[in-house]
Amino acid sequence: MSFDLTQYGIDVKEILRNSSRPVLYEIGLRYEKGTAISDTGALLVYSGEKTGRSPKDKRIVRHPDSENNIDWGDINIELDEHTFKVNHERAMDYLNTRERLFVVDAFAGWDPRYRLKVRIVCTRAYHALFMQNMLIMPTAEELANFGEPDFVVFNAGGFPANRFTSKMTSKTSIDVNLEENQMIILGTEYAGEMKKGVFSVMNYLMPLEDVLPMHCSANVNEAGDVSILFGLSGTGKTTLSADPKRKLIGDDEHCWTDTGVFNIEGGCYAKAIDLSEESEPEIYNAIRYGTVLENVMYDPDTREVDYSDTTITQNTRASYPIDFIDNIHIPAVAGHANHVIFLTCDAFGVLPPVSKLTPEQASYHFISGYTAKVAGTEMGVTEPQATFSACFGAAFMMWHPNRYAELLAEKIKKHNATAWLVNTGWTGGGHGVGSRIKLKYTRAMIDAIHNGDFDNLETVTDPNFGFEVPTSCPGVPSEVLIPKDTWEDKEGYEQTKENLVALFNENFKAFADGVNREIVEASPKSKTEAAAAV
Ligand code: ATP
Ligand code: MN
Repeated sequence: MSFDLTQYGIDVKEILRNSSRPVLYEIGLRYEKGTAISDTGALLVYSGEKTGRSPKDKRIVRHPDSENNIDWGDINIELDEHTFKVNHERAMDYLNTRERLFVVDAFAGWDPRYRLKVRIVCTRAYHALFMQNMLIMPTAEELANFGEPDFVVFNAGGFPANRFTSKMTSKTSIDVNLEENQMIILGTEYAGEMKKGVFSVMNYLMPLEDVLPMHCSANVNEAGDVSILFGLSGTGKTTLSADPKRKLIGDDEHCWTDTGVFNIEGGCYAKAIDLSEESEPEIYNAIRYGTVLENVMYDPDTREVDYSDTTITQNTRASYPIDFIDNIHIPAVAGHANHVIFLTCDAFGVLPPVSKLTPEQASYHFISGYTAKVAGTEMGVTEPQATFSACFGAAFMMWHPNRYAELLAEKIKKHNATAWLVNTGWTGGGHGVGSRIKLKYTRAMIDAIHNGDFDNLETVTDPNFGFEVPTSCPGVPSEVLIPKDTWEDKEGYEQTKENLVALFNENFKAFADGVNREIVEASPKSKTEAAAAV
C-alpha cells in the first residue's frame, strides 16, 4: 500500500515508506546513475556534482518567534518567508514530477525525553537508505504510532534552485524553517546535507531545554566511564571513537543532558579515503550489505573498491547503521562525560600531540575551535590553512557560540570532567616537511587519557599556550611528545608557533567581550608576552 503525502500537496502514486534494504538496493540499481554493488555487498552510489556540503547555500527563515535566539551572520544567513515559499513550491513541483518517492520516518536522539520525530521525503533510493542508516529506526510498533513528525526534510536536490530568486547566490539552496518545522533541499544530492540539517535543528532546539548539543563522537568503557571527542571534519572523531577497548556510543552528534550523554544518530558516516583493514578494522569491516559507499572508485570487473583513488572526491564516505560496529553501547544513552577531548589536525606541526587543559583553557579552545587544513592540492598550494570554527562545528550551530560554551563549562565543572587537546596532525615539521602523526601513537595517547596514566606522569608547561604537556606516554616514543624536539629547524618552529599564536588571538577578538576574564586570560601568549610574564 502506498503512503499518503497529500497533506503536503504531493500526489505521487508510488510512495515507499521505511523500505527494506533489498527494495532500496533494487530501485537504486535500476534507476540511479552510477549505482552498483561492491564486492563486500555495500551499495556504491554517486552523489552527482556536489560531493560535500554547501555551507554558503544554507538559509534560515527569519521569524519573530526565533529571530532573537539565532546568531545571524555568515553561517546563519537569513531568508524571508516569501522566498522560503518560492523554494518550497519549487521543491514540491519537482517532487510531484517523480514516478515514485521515498519516505523515511524515524527518530533523532536516543533519549526518549528529547528525541525528535523526523520525516524525510526524497527521490532517490540512495537517500532513503542513507537516512535509514543515519537515523534511529522505529520498531514496527513505534512506526504504527508515529503520528505526525516534528520535522520534515524535503529533499528535491536533483532539481536546482532558481538563481534569480531573491537571496539565491547559486543553484543550490538548503532552507530551514523553524516555525514550519521544515527543511527544503534544492540543487545538491550530497546525502550528508540531510544528516547535518537534522543536526542543525537539534542545535537550535536543545539549548531551549538546557541540553548541550555537541559535534563530537563518544564512547564508554565497561565501568561506565564516558569520553567525548570534539573536532572539525577530518580530525579523527569517527576513527578514534571506534576503539576495540570501548563501546561506541556514536561518531558525530551527541547531546549532554542532566543525566548524561546521548547519541542523536542511529548510524555512522566515516571517511573512506585511504581506509585499510589494518589501521581501521572496525570501520573497514562495517562496509558490507546495507552500507552506502559514496563516490568511491572501484574495479569495473571485480567491484573491489580502491580507497586510495580520489578521482571523484577526497571526501569519499561510508554510511552504516551503528550495529555494523561490533562493540557498541545500545541504547546509545550513557552517563556524564569523564573525559572531554578536543581533536585538532594541526598541519603547522606546532601543537603538542597531547596536552592537559584547565577548565578555562577548555572554554578558550572550545570557543576557538582550531584546526589547520592542508590547502587544496589541486591549486598547487602547500601552505596549511588555519581554520577556526567555534564549538568545533560553527557551521551547524544556531545560537551564539557562548550559549554552547557556557553549557559545556558548567557541565565540565559540575561533573569534574578532565579536558585535553589532542593534535592528530603534523609532527617533525609542518606539512611538506614533517608527516602526520601515526594513528597508532594517537590511539596510545587516547588510551593513556582513559587509563589515567597522565595523572602520575611528569608534564611541562607550554610557555605560550600555558597547557600541561606530558613528557612520556606508554607506547609512544618520548621525543614525539614535545613538537620542538621533532623539528630540525628550531628557529622555524618558534616562528611558526608565533604566527599561530597570533592567529588564535586575532580570531578570539570577536568573542573576548562575551566571556569572563579567566577565559580571555587562557589565550596563548606571544614570545614577548610570555617573557614579560615570567
Ligand atoms: P567528519 O566530521 O567529517 O566526520 P571526523 O572527525 O570524523 O570528520 P575521521 O573520519 O575520523 O574525521 O577522519 C580522520 C582521518 O584521518 C581518517 O581518514 C584517518 O585514517 C586519518 N588519520 C591519519 N592519522 C591520524 C591520526 N593520528 N589520528 C586520527 N586520524 C588519523
Ligand atoms: Mn566523522
